[in-house]
Amino acid sequence: MPPHYKLKDTEYSQKYFAKYMREYRKKNPQYVKKDSDKRRDMRKKLLDILGGTKCTHCGFDKDIRVLQIDHKDNEGAEDARSFGGSSKMYRYYVTNPEIAKTKLQVLCANCNIIKQHDEKTWKSPTKGKKRKKGIWY
Ligand SMILES: [Zn+2]
Repeated sequence: MPPHYKLKDTEYSQKYFAKYMREYRKKNPQYVKKDSDKRRDMRKKLLDILGGTKCTHCGFDKDIRVLQIDHKDNEGAEDARSFGGSSKMYRYYVTNPEIAKTKLQVLCANCNIIKQHDEKTWKSPTKGKKRKKGIWY
């Protein structure tokens, strides 16, 4: 009698399936893509759509790792929420490049931070009032 005979059917099939998948992945590494790879691919595709791996603002193109996909209207968080997650949102923009181009742009980390600070100043709820000392500037 095989050693697994005491296991319940579902238990057995789960274990068998996990083992099968492990072996399958080992034998077919070309079909195994990690989530991080998928995200990287998605980002690369989106960067290509938005004009390549170059900061729209200052032209920085030395290192793709600091390039960020920025929402021109700063509605990134709301947008991601409306899609039910940022990966779904990026998938949508990759399949709808025309919409992506109107809503997104490529910025390097520096320009993105500067933009956020500038717009915070611009959108500041204390606009018109005297600003407190010690914020941003
Ligand atoms: Zn830049």
